[in-house]
Amino acid sequence: MTPTESRATTASAAPDTAAPDLYDPFTGALLAAASPRTAAVELGLEPPRFCARCGRRMVVQIAPDGWWARCSRHGVRDSRDGSRR
Ligand SMILES: [Zn+2]
Repeated sequence: MTPTESRATTASAAPDTAAPDLYDPFTGALLAAASPRTAAVELGLEPPRFCARCGRRMVVQIAPDGWWARCSRHGVRDSRDGSRR
């Protein structure tokens, strides 16, 4: 059984886009209570390497004005999305 399959059924009604980040987008590891992040990560300057919701490795593209990273299950996460300010 994978960790994603053991989540509580009470939250199953929420869409994937509203799910909390479960995985570190830079290491793919399950997030601990307090995972340290670099300043560049906090500012959104570094693209994530792994999907924060399922831990899959994402396709990352660096653009002159930012970056995007695509998960095969959760779609594209863009540095300009503004989900994290
Ligand atoms: Zn994903």
